[in-house]
Amino acid sequence: MNFIFLGAPGAGKGTMAEVLSKKKNIPAISTGNIIRSALKSGTEMGLRAKVYTESGKLVPDEIVIGIIQERLARPDCKNGFILDGFPRTIPQAEALDKMGVVIDRVIDLEVSEQMIMTRLSGRRVCEKCGASYHLVNKKPKVEGRCDLCGGTLIQRKDDQPETIKARLKIYHEQTEPLKGYYEKQGKLCKVQGYNRVSDTTKAVFEAIEA
Ligand code: ADP
Ligand code: ZN
Repeated sequence: MNFIFLGAPGAGKGTMAEVLSKKKNIPAISTGNIIRSALKSGTEMGLRAKVYTESGKLVPDEIVIGIIQERLARPDCKNGFILDGFPRTIPQAEALDKMGVVIDRVIDLEVSEQMIMTRLSGRRVCEKCGASYHLVNKKPKVEGRCDLCGGTLIQRKDDQPETIKARLKIYHEQTEPLKGYYEKQGKLCKVQGYNRVSDTTKAVFEAIEA
């Protein structure tokens, strides 16, 4: 099966995509992570995306659509995949449809605006492997170090308070309309994302099995 996680920045898409990936043994694909690692290794695509990503803007559709097209063509996607952070605009969703990609379920993680601010401003990520932590809710075992690889934890440029506001505005304007898009296709499952990870996990599994 092919899944999409929808939801505001900080709704927990990445966490849930990883959990579902392990359970179903299919890859979780995060356009944000792909862009950040391209940026780090200084590829041409990374350079083109830099100004947008760091200021909290969306990277132009044609770039992210290209990224996804290439990624979904890899053999590990043949038994299914999970998209985290794509599509984020109606044209991106239309591009998936045009590619003939069949989506089975779209899981919309619902959280409050206040919770988003708390989650994103306290978020720290591993510089090396991208794993995500939180200053209060998900502390690493050793302060400032990644549990998985020992890398240094940093704050993403786009997790600064001013940039978070810009990202939320863009989310409401460009990404939220996707709920209606997938509701019309009968694929939208709404899941509450404001409880503990274990509760949200349970709710996600129930929603996709329904
Ligand atoms: P979050 O879900 O926490 O907002 P992501 O890691 O998914 O963050 O994305 C970070 C940034 O990468 C976005 O703010 C945007 O600049 C870029 N990006 C990721 N996915 C897309 C997409 N589908 N379309 C356009 N830009 C994207
Ligand atoms: Zn790490």
